[in-house]
This record gives sequence, C-alpha cells and structure tokens, in this order.
Amino acid sequence: MEALEQKILDEGTVLSGNILKVGSFLNQQLDVGFLLKMGEEIGRIYKGDEITKILTIEASGIAVAVAAAAVMGNKVVFAKKNKTSNVSGEVYSAKVHSFTHGTDYLITVPKEYIKKSDKVLIIDDFLANGNALIGLIDIINQAGAEVVGCTCAIEKGFQGGGDKLRKKGYRIESLAVIEKMSAEGIEFRR
Ligand code: 5GP
Repeated sequence: MEALEQKILDEGTVLSGNILKVGSFLNQQLDVGFLLKMGEEIGRIYKGDEITKILTIEASGIAVAVAAAAVMGNKVVFAKKNKTSNVSGEVYSAKVHSFTHGTDYLITVPKEYIKKSDKVLIIDDFLANGNALIGLIDIINQAGAEVVGCTCAIEKGFQGGGDKLRKKGYRIESLAVIEKMSAEGIEFRR
C-alpha cells in the first residue's frame, strides 16, 4: 500500500534493536482516517473470501482490526495477553514470545468467540519473527476453525517471520513490507 509506505517514510523512526516507531498514527496516537484507508485496502484484499471473524491481539492490533471490520462487516475478537499461566478451561490459550519485551506471555481467547465453522482473518500491527501470528493460528486450530489469511499493517521482511509462514502455506498479505531499515533510511520490498 503506497500511502502506508509514504506514511512510514514521513512519520516513522527507526530505533535500535530493529524497532520501527510509528506512534504518530498506529501505536499511540491513532490516525483514524488513515486507519480506515488501511481497512479499505484489507477489504479489497479479502473481497470474495467468506471471512466470518477477525482475530487480533491487544493492544495495537485492535485499531487495524476495527478499521478492517468497519469495511468488511465482521466482528473482531482480540486475544488478551496474560502474564500468569493460570487459565481456565473456558479459554483457548497459546504461549507467545514477545519481540518488543523479550519475554513470554500467554494469549487467551474465550472459547465462545471462535466456532469451528468460523473462517478467520488474523490482523496485527507488526509482523517481525512471526510469533504473535503463530500463537493466533494455534488458537484458531484449537477451535477447529479455518485460517483464511493474515494481514499485518507493517511486515519487517528482513526478520523472516512472514516468509516462514508463507512457506508453510499460509496466506500472508502485509500492507507494507520493509526489506531494509536503519537510521539512514527505509527500503520496501518490491
Ligand atoms: P513477532 O511476534 O512477529 O516477532 O512480532 C510482532 C509483535 O511485536 C507485534 O504484535 C507488535 O506489537 C510487536 N512488534 C514487532 N516489531 C515491532 C516494531 O518494529 N515496532 C513496534 N511498534 N512493534 C513491533
């Protein structure tokens, strides 16, 4: 999505540790008009696919997921992040290693919100090593539902998580894929 690439170039800052900061429109302040444009793009990508539910992860995935849902007419479920491993039998859960915090946490989704008949689109803000997506896919598999595809606003292609999942046969459609980034500049995959 060209407009997103330009927005990243205009407003993004590359921090140490391969972190891209886009707090001005995605991770802290929300540019809702722009988010809705991303939602429209996601709607175009999955037009014709019978998505019944959108699954994301708190907190920053929610804004993108809601923008897509506003266009696609689906309900959004978000996985909660838990520090403890104490979960009830009423939830699906999966362990995820956090790229930004370097620790493991448990994500949970109440069983009642994903049914076996669901065709699920996974949405998140960033795709780096792919651990968040793998956890969300695990939860959909536990529910016996179908993963139609995964869309992240920004994929850092050089970290390899997206390509690893593509090789496994998953449909990964990121809105912008960064091939290279440093304090000197950002290059996108063509
Ligand atoms: P992964 O699980 O693919 O390694 O990392 C994806 C998760 O880590 C996303 O949910 C996102 O919250 C966070 N993340 C990864 N890389 C970045 C980054 O460069 N910037 C920001 N703001 N978050 C990131």
